[in-house]
Amino acid sequence: ISETRSHGSSTRRRVVSHTVDRDGAARSFDVTLSCITGGRDDVSGVVAVLHDVTKEKEVAQMKTDFVSNVSHELRTPLAGIKAYIEMLLDGDAEDPQTRREFHEIIAGETDRLSRLIDNILNLARIESGVVKVAVEPMDLTAVVKSTLEVAAPQAKAKSIELVESLAPVFTQVEADRDMINQAVMNLVSNAIKYTREGGTVRVATRIEDHRGVAVVEVADSGVGIPAEDLPHLFDKFYRVKSSCKMAKGTGLGLALVKHIVETLHRGSLTVRSTVGENSGSVFTIELPICS
Ligand code: ADP
Repeated sequence: ISETRSHGSSTRRRVVSHTVDRDGAARSFDVTLSCITGGRDDVSGVVAVLHDVTKEKEVAQMKTDFVSNVSHELRTPLAGIKAYIEMLLDGDAEDPQTRREFHEIIAGETDRLSRLIDNILNLARIESGVVKVAVEPMDLTAVVKSTLEVAAPQAKAKSIELVESLAPVFTQVEADRDMINQAVMNLVSNAIKYTREGGTVRVATRIEDHRGVAVVEVADSGVGIPAEDLPHLFDKFYRVKSSCKMAKGTGLGLALVKHIVETLHRGSLTVRSTVGENSGSVFTIELPICS
């Protein structure tokens, strides 16, 4: 204000950006300043109009972060595919065994690429509201059962015991079967990924009549999630530094599960977790039961 005033009455209108950082919570403003001239040249006052643009700035930053994260995530499998194709072209794989190995790596990386793109597209479609949900009375326990069958080989490969405790939850829930299947699959697969060999993953379904919800609970005896990471766990591309080396991933799975459960089915997804001895995580999906 004093700067504008010192420029004198010639300054009719100027816009400056200003950020106030109070206790680490920054707010950004576009400030429009105009001099009020009294009489001829003298400035009798300055009017400042503050426009809070914090949200717009955050959204712009998120878009930039998103693009750079996506590019980074896409580049990693692509670099692998390119390297192995070049080795094949250069004749580095002379025997059929090595060639087969290279082809399998390329196939694996291609799968990863297409999973990543599917996840990004699914998230984008849910967020923009164009996803059609095929809601029907659903046999929740059967869906969870079939998910466990698919996950069994992944658990067996790590000698992880899959324990099920499935109550008869049949048609009490109206939901999109494929989407709930994908959500439960993501949680079970994470539980296996972030649990060391020989651990246990428990999956339970039950009805809590008094609260009007059907519950799917996925509990593991895994490495747990540090308290400081919990608030960010459902953010896109967020991976926990201390455990992300245990398994390949993109940090999109939980963001997708959150959207499927909360945005599309008016349910809730929550997590409890501790790190250290007797550690482990419990992810809970609650879906409203229909009357
Ligand atoms: P990712 O593809 O990395 O597995 P997710 O969005 O599914 O992405 O999970 C985000 C992060 O949350 C993971 O990278 C992992 O660090 C952490 N996480 C998810 N599930 C568990 C779990 N059951 N136990 C410990 N950490 C987990």
